[in-house]
Amino acid sequence: MDKRNLGKWSSISLAFIGFVLVLAGVVMVLSMLAVTVDRETRLREQEQVAHGVAGWIEETQARIVGQTNWDDALLNLGVKFDAVWAQTNVGQFLHDMGGLEQAYVLDAADQPIYGMAAGADVAPRIFAGMASEAAPLIAAVRQGEARRAPIIARPPFAVMLSKPIQASAISRVGGTPSVISATLVQPDFGTVLLPGRAPIVITVESLNADFMTEFGRRFLLSGLSSTPVATAAAPGEASYLLRGNGAAIGRLSWRQQTPGRQLLDQALPPVLALLALLMAATGFLYMRARRGAQALVASESRSSFMAFHDHLTGLPNRALFQDRLSVALRSLQRGGEPIGVFLIDLDRFKQVNDCYGHGAGDALIIEVASRLQGLLRANDTICRLGGDEFAILCMSVSPKGLATLAERIITTLRDPIELDFGRMFVGASAGVTVIVDGRADGGEALRQADLAMYSAKDAGGSCYRFFEPEMDLALKTRQGLEADLREALANDGLTMVYQPQVDARGHTSGVEALVRWDHHLRGAVAPTCFVAIAEEGGLIEALGAFTFRRAFADSLRWPNLRVAVNVSAIQLRSTGFLPLIRQILKETGADSRRIELEITEGVLLNDDFATHQTLRTLREMGFTIALDDFGTGYSSLSYLRKYPVDKVKIDRSFITSLGNDREAEAVVGAIVKLARALSLDVIAEGVETEVQLAGLRRAGCRDVQGYIYSRPMAADDVDGFVSGMVASAA
Ligand code: C2E
Ligand code: CA
Ligand code: CA
Repeated sequence: MDKRNLGKWSSISLAFIGFVLVLAGVVMVLSMLAVTVDRETRLREQEQVAHGVAGWIEETQARIVGQTNWDDALLNLGVKFDAVWAQTNVGQFLHDMGGLEQAYVLDAADQPIYGMAAGADVAPRIFAGMASEAAPLIAAVRQGEARRAPIIARPPFAVMLSKPIQASAISRVGGTPSVISATLVQPDFGTVLLPGRAPIVITVESLNADFMTEFGRRFLLSGLSSTPVATAAAPGEASYLLRGNGAAIGRLSWRQQTPGRQLLDQALPPVLALLALLMAATGFLYMRARRGAQALVASESRSSFMAFHDHLTGLPNRALFQDRLSVALRSLQRGGEPIGVFLIDLDRFKQVNDCYGHGAGDALIIEVASRLQGLLRANDTICRLGGDEFAILCMSVSPKGLATLAERIITTLRDPIELDFGRMFVGASAGVTVIVDGRADGGEALRQADLAMYSAKDAGGSCYRFFEPEMDLALKTRQGLEADLREALANDGLTMVYQPQVDARGHTSGVEALVRWDHHLRGAVAPTCFVAIAEEGGLIEALGAFTFRRAFADSLRWPNLRVAVNVSAIQLRSTGFLPLIRQILKETGADSRRIELEITEGVLLNDDFATHQTLRTLREMGFTIALDDFGTGYSSLSYLRKYPVDKVKIDRSFITSLGNDREAEAVVGAIVKLARALSLDVIAEGVETEVQLAGLRRAGCRDVQGYIYSRPMAADDVDGFVSGMVASAA
């Protein structure tokens, strides 16, 4: 996912998050609305109940008035007291018809003279139990009676339905909230008149279960009940506080209607479902965007890792190394400790890579990287510069510490490396430089380490060298020599000399062509030196062309001699080699059968088809192939069998030791036997003494080349040497 997509996904996610928030807001508003609606409903219900209770009291009063505003009542309760009448018209009637639980009649002195409870007559004194509750009502009624206009008898009808004088209150009677009413007995038509105070009828209607049922039914309240004042309302319950004579008597509680809640309950599931769906969608999108972001971050960090690390070994690469190096140099400038820079190059990596393929090369590099890492301290930096080149940056070290590390590096890489392909001996050369001067830049540090490393290579490899200022000079000299060599090749500045090869009978069988360069300032430059310069500076083709041309041409001067010509490994591998040889053969008219090409084992290490083919072609063309410096390379035997080789040249290092080293003689003997077994010719080179010659004879080697017979000589001197040898043999 790229950044644009990531942005798109995050804005989608944001939009969804916003949407979800809006939805959550809607749900919240709905809930708040529901709560408000339900609170309003409760208040309305409470108001209804308040009105209902008041209305209930009025109704109760109205039921009593029919029995008290009645001439008969005044007659039978006030003028006289008729107990039977009271029982029938007050007690019985109010219970049965009015649904009242208790009724009492008080005389003019407010003393109870009749009592009824639950439909049966009771002793009037029972009234005493509620006297205190009834007292304010009685007082109010007596006040009303006192304020009443006097009733004057005016027959036939003195009073038409006089206005009732009543007082009621809710009070607690026998533990139950009840409506207590006091009603004055009055005439209706005035057929009976009573001077002075009239009787009072006290009634009690308890708010019992029947009341609850009836009241609830009338006001559509479910679960209506009477509870003590102190009881807290249960959840979902509403209540109304009953008051009488200024005090709380009890509560009416009922299940509150919750239209808001119900609406919410109905609306919420679909809203929540939608919300859940949106949240799931948002979550999904978020996860996707997040994964995308993580992938992006990962790929960015991977690519930044790749930009600064070698993909094969995971080590820092050149860019990161240079970065760390310049940081170290800056800290050195500020007075930090000296730093050490290593450059390490494997000695025989190319051979392994060419011989066993890139898989083996890669495995080798990985193993080398891991071995090197194992030698370092935490604050050292190792990097792979490329190919088989590694660099190490060591912080704050002494030259002694660096030498120890260098020693370890060389030793650990000298040890064989076991790979799936077999056991490899690669070895390495290392260059070390100590930077004490912060003014040096990273490039200079690496250049110094590089020079030191090449100096180690020149010394034969598998060793290390510290950088010395003279190396700079050596490099400059080398660079100067290269330019001079180029010029010498162009201007016929090189010559060929020939060193005779002598057989067992003392006859000269051939000569080896050796190139010479007489430098105008330096004098004779060693061929080992300038051949290497030519190989590295791209001049080997030209140098080879010169030696072949000259040696092939000179070979015509000695019809009875074989002429050996050295072939550089690098040149042999070039595609232009065979055509060049063919052309020079044609040019010079030389006989290929009398020309021997000397190659080194390094050529054979390159176990590729092309080299094999080149050697075959050369032999088909008539050339013979000699293996030069035999014994100095490694695993020589297998090459001898595999390759089209005609002769081995035992290296001078074995010959030097002959006479004072029994082992050298044994080695030479073995080489001779081996060559015989493979039907190869053998020649020893670098023979200087009679002792060496005798040793060679004992070992069975008869052909010899060396100062003992002759140093290399000019072509013109060869004929003289040959005839001299013939003469001495004779
Ligand atoms: P090489 O092919 O092994 O040549 C033999 C070297 O040993 C020659 O050194 C020769 O002068 C030297 N030598 C011969 N007999 C003795 C002896 O008894 N004692 C001692 N100490 N040395 C002896 P030179 O001519 O300096 O050549 C050195 C190397 O340079 C040659 O080793 C060869 O590898 C290379 N070289 C020389 N000429 C050519 C050439 O024309 N083309 C190529 N490609 N390489 C050449
Ligand atoms: Ca040679
Ligand atoms: Ca040699």
